[in-house]
Amino acid sequence: MSQENCIFCKIAAGEIPSKKVHEDDEFVAFHDINPAAPVHVLVIPRKHIETLSSCTEADAPLLGRMLSLTARLAGELGVAYTGGDTGFRTVINTGPGGGQEVYHIHAHILAGERPWRRMG
Ligand code: 5GP
Ligand code: ZN
Repeated sequence: MSQENCIFCKIAAGEIPSKKVHEDDEFVAFHDINPAAPVHVLVIPRKHIETLSSCTEADAPLLGRMLSLTARLAGELGVAYTGGDTGFRTVINTGPGGGQEVYHIHAHILAGERPWRRMG
């Protein structure tokens, strides 16, 4: 899908409404419209990158910051791993074989009481 028709580019630009939990110069995070778990947040770069398979070594700093942001947001959402039964899942679906539906790279943060809906 091209950048012009990309739902997540439109969400990042504020052209499509979303329940945002974080916004900065480089990333936006918002609640998934169809949550598979009690906490289900998507973290996206503002830059339109289609998939993890489109990434090169040049994207490594962005990917590193994206992953560290997911950890920080998990803390702010109250689902960080702090011992015992706590913690969250981070998922990046890649291509049809990985169950990707939106072709703008995103990390899912999933957490909370089971059961969770199966993804993909
Ligand atoms: P994927 O399967 O590509 O890894 O995940 C795409 C996710 O985006 C799905 O969990 C889906 O529910 C979510 N999603 C799709 N369209 C929208 C939307 O317009 N708004 C929000 N907030 N989430 C969306
Ligand atoms: Zn996009």
